[in-house]
Amino acid sequence: MAQMIPGAFAYFNGAYVPTEDAKVSIMTHALNYGTGLFEGIRGYYVQEANNILIFRLKEHVDRMVRNFNVLCMEVPEDAAKIEEICVEVVRKSGFREGVYIRPMCYKSELSLGPKLRGVESSFCCYIIKLGDYCDIESGLDIAVSSWRRLSDNAIPSRVKATGSYLNSSLAATDAKQSGFDEAIFLREDGTVAEGSAMNLFMVMNGKLITPPPTADILVGITRNTIIELAREELGLEVIERPIGRTELYVCDELFFSGTGAQVAPIRSVDRRVIGSGMPGPISKKLQDVYFNVVQGRLPKYRAWCTPVY
Ligand code: PMP
Repeated sequence: MAQMIPGAFAYFNGAYVPTEDAKVSIMTHALNYGTGLFEGIRGYYVQEANNILIFRLKEHVDRMVRNFNVLCMEVPEDAAKIEEICVEVVRKSGFREGVYIRPMCYKSELSLGPKLRGVESSFCCYIIKLGDYCDIESGLDIAVSSWRRLSDNAIPSRVKATGSYLNSSLAATDAKQSGFDEAIFLREDGTVAEGSAMNLFMVMNGKLITPPPTADILVGITRNTIIELAREELGLEVIERPIGRTELYVCDELFFSGTGAQVAPIRSVDRRVIGSGMPGPISKKLQDVYFNVVQGRLPKYRAWCTPVY
């Protein structure tokens, strides 16, 4: 999993610096109030090309820049510059393996008071080496969390805000303490939202079903990728609609999607075995297509992959 890596470069205060030199004050607004937003982007190392391909860089940066408006953020770096920085931190670090890129905008002023307007924001970016974030082979054991997903009128899930990950941490910690791999959040209305850092898909009678963007979810780039690949490559019908808790117990297949989670099949929910208890055929097919796409092996989707070197 993630670790501090010697040799890694970060972008901080307008310059590329060794990551260990990129430090903020304890008075930083974002540290005190959770007033930051970030992205998580994967770069896949492709052996035959001896290159790293960054997956859907444009879409990640676009989501970030759109969300500036929610947190009243103004930073000097525009989308094109942020994309350039994401590539440059990897290039400068010189890595030739899987990486996770973390661009972040945060209220960097050393000022007191939870407010968004009139507080200076800064942009920074760091990288880590990252393999699989969770098991993607044998299927995960999941629990429905007793913690509810943040609602759009509390802390909007569509914004990848630093502060909202307290909600994710509560659910993931409880699940892991109880011997599960991950948690599924319900919304305040009792319908299904997502995992702690991943979106959820259900297969029922050959159709792919996932909660809509209004269901207090982060509208995942991987989610959007899976929807497109399911329709285009597998010819599946994809339905975005609310999902009830017990549908999770009676469906044919379940899996998570996310930059970290990639495509991670689920084998049980609340100790109820899903389907055969093994990753289902549709989950596996989508996983296969996904890994071919992120490694640039399907020319049709090559534009989603940005080479670093
Ligand atoms: N939901 C949450 C809460 C997340 O943190 C993530 C990870 N970014 C996702 C869903 C999946 O989003 P993406 O596919 O864009 O990584």
